[in-house]
Amino acid sequence: MSFNANNFRDVDPGERVLMGPGPSDVSVRVLQAMSAPCIGHLDPVFLSIMDETQRLLRFLFQTENALTIPVSGTGSAGMETCFVNLVEPGDEVVVCVNGVFGTRMCDIVNRLGAKLIKVDADWGKTIDPDTVREAIKGKSPKVLAVVHAETSTGVLQPLEDLSSIAKESGALFLVDMVTSLAGIEVSLDKMGIDAAYSGTQKCISCPPGLSPISFNAAAMESLKNRKSPVVSWYLDMSMVSSYWGADRKYHHTAPINMIYGLREALRIIAEEGLEDRFARHMLNHRALVSGIEGMGLSMLVPEGERLPMLNAVQIPEGADDLKVRKALLNDFGMEIGGGLGDLAGKVWRVGLMGHASRRRNVFLFLSALETILKAQGVNVQPGALEAASSVY
Ligand SMILES: *Cc1c(COP(=O)(O)O)cnc(C)c1O
Repeated sequence: MSFNANNFRDVDPGERVLMGPGPSDVSVRVLQAMSAPCIGHLDPVFLSIMDETQRLLRFLFQTENALTIPVSGTGSAGMETCFVNLVEPGDEVVVCVNGVFGTRMCDIVNRLGAKLIKVDADWGKTIDPDTVREAIKGKSPKVLAVVHAETSTGVLQPLEDLSSIAKESGALFLVDMVTSLAGIEVSLDKMGIDAAYSGTQKCISCPPGLSPISFNAAAMESLKNRKSPVVSWYLDMSMVSSYWGADRKYHHTAPINMIYGLREALRIIAEEGLEDRFARHMLNHRALVSGIEGMGLSMLVPEGERLPMLNAVQIPEGADDLKVRKALLNDFGMEIGGGLGDLAGKVWRVGLMGHASRRRNVFLFLSALETILKAQGVNVQPGALEAASSVY
């Protein structure tokens, strides 16, 4: 067998505009930070970088929670971390499901041997708090879990009522903030959220690989009072927290350069300011929607329930889903997402996340889409760019 190292070329993915459901475009500053020398995970210089990363994360989550750290792994690792630490076999757990990520939560809850109380809503709709109230009558759930920004459908879930229901029923309120964090207002302490997880590759605009999580005192108390050990050794927060806390006890080697990248991405967010960042996401979203509607296409989600960072556009009659996405990628270097599950072939998911939420991208996408649809013989109205332009 012949093996020649010269057959492998340098990594050269070319340039893309990432307007899918994640990863999103990463700023050069973050990539540069990640190329700094790798040092030891107990080196005092690295320890201070860890502390700063935690402070920046608390600012982003708007919380005083001591346990606010990036879990080593992508958003799904954060999801699993929350459930394995807060749930024991036999516990009742309410999961709200209106898309792919609620479904994933159910899978994890079932694997843990907990009693799943599933509350459904149609994909593309929000969860109705009354159906949650109805589902937990006479029950005492340990956790009530919901996705804040359902990336599979583009729906924004209001949290106030669900937070109250959790408090009234004595359940911990667990929220998936993978797509919402750094794109819309997220305020853990004000919103009464006991535990939350996110991911670095959506609105934080850092490559995938870390999952910021935060547990409040009630969540830590529940962890301390467990009758059985956490089933995952790697994700056991009672051990991981002592590495991130004062003890600095070795648990697993931190992904050093990923943390450099996250720290830089968080620093960029702090420099922009949360209010300005949320306003930027909203403005570019409004312009995109205006352009889409100007073209004669429609959005899946009704106005008022839409996510600013993930736009589900209904695929017009006569358009070939796959061919359109291929042309976007090959001819224009742009990535968008297709529909998942029930929505496969029915919607395109257009991300305007973090660094990618820019006027430039809105216009690039609208002009590319219009060109491609016309070439496929799809009837599009003129004036998409003017419609988008009028929003700015
Ligand atoms: C992307 C996403 C996840 C999963 O994150 P990964 O980084 O792909 O593991 C979970 N929840 C939501 C809402 C997401 O958008």
